[in-house]
Amino acid sequence: MEELRLPVRGEELDREPAFPRREFRELGERRLLGLSTARRWGGRGLPLRDAATTLHALAYRSGTTFAKLSMQPEFCSLLAEHGSDSLRSEFFDPLLTGQRLVGNHVTEPGAGSDIGGLAMRATRSGEEYILDGTKSEAAFAVDADAAIVYAKVREDAVSAFLVPQGLEGIERTLSPPDLGERWMRRGTVRYAGVRVPVGHRIGPEGGALDLLKGELTRDRLFLAVIYLGVGRSSFDDVVEYAGTRATFGRPLHAHQAVGFPIADDWARLDATWLYVERSLVRLEAGEDVAAEAALAKRMATTVALAAIDHAVQFHGGRGYSSALPHERRWRDVRSGALAHGPNELMLRTAAGRLWPRAPRPP
Ligand SMILES: Cc1cc2nc3c(=O)[nH]c(=O)nc-3n(C[C@H](O)[C@H](O)[C@H](O)COP(=O)(O)OP(=O)(O)OC[C@H]3O[C@@H](n4cnc5c(N)ncnc54)[C@H](O)[C@@H]3O)c2cc1C
Repeated sequence: MEELRLPVRGEELDREPAFPRREFRELGERRLLGLSTARRWGGRGLPLRDAATTLHALAYRSGTTFAKLSMQPEFCSLLAEHGSDSLRSEFFDPLLTGQRLVGNHVTEPGAGSDIGGLAMRATRSGEEYILDGTKSEAAFAVDADAAIVYAKVREDAVSAFLVPQGLEGIERTLSPPDLGERWMRRGTVRYAGVRVPVGHRIGPEGGALDLLKGELTRDRLFLAVIYLGVGRSSFDDVVEYAGTRATFGRPLHAHQAVGFPIADDWARLDATWLYVERSLVRLEAGEDVAAEAALAKRMATTVALAAIDHAVQFHGGRGYSSALPHERRWRDVRSGALAHGPNELMLRTAAGRLWPRAPRPP
């Protein structure tokens, strides 16, 4: 665990948002980027459960920042698994060492949850594709060196492309600061007649959404683990505080209104961890756990936010202040209910498993 002792700049990155390049490179040097990335792609190749345990420890010690930095290669596993050798060596290898940052551009102003509604087009022209459209809400909008961009090649088919962000025709705009995880510096990227070589397509023509679905399953389980790690951190803090702070002649925990919800958080954090762990084992064994992963992300954000909120509340006035880390942790974890599929849509995914061929109402 020695290698997990990393300097934390959480407060500074919250106050003055910037992409933490130094820490990103440091994680790369310590081989903490892409923990589950296969060895044949240059990663550590840890079994999913072991990678998850490390992500949990990173999140427990330093919030979501390092853990999510660590996951950047996993967020781009399409590039490793389905990109050409030259794309991999130019963009994925330096991502694994923290030298280059690669974003993901899926969401558009008119299509977020409803990914079938993408308007961005990729038109084949000889040995190139021409990209036209606007991507919004994107993390690292102005900081990424390249992005995996999803665009329609036909009305019913989406392809993914590796697009270096310095190309002509790309305009990047930073959005106003987010509630939390401000270091991600989200924004909008406009593509106007941007030309990329055919070799920059990732995976088969029109097959990107199926590939993305597979990647999202693992990513959602890892994200669940990260949120549980942050929640556990606030939980442990509040357990200690409620054991020492006294009001009305008794320790805080002895007031049932304080002690019981904390005990409930204990059960919910542990139960969700077990659910995630089981799903990771099943995923490693080749089972389809897309629905479980969706439910896990939803449960993890819900229980972690509740635990952190209790830490804010039961630390009293100081809990609400930036003197303690809980308010920031809450803001950081809150993103998890929206990013990588909003939590409402996680239920839609799960319901699709329960009623796969259910007749649609007219
Ligand atoms: C911190 C953060 C980082 C992000 N990073 C990226 C990134 O790097 N790249 C990228 O492409 N995108 C990114 N996103 C965008 C994110 O994926 C989208 O915001 C998300 O998919 C929702 O899309 P939307 O904003 O268009 O909301 P909409 O799809 O318009 O949904 C609005 C609300 O309505 C609900 N809703 C919609 N349809 C239904 C339904 N059928 N049933 C029930 N409820 C429904 C949703 O749950 C949501 O609460 C990021 C978002 C956040 C918050």
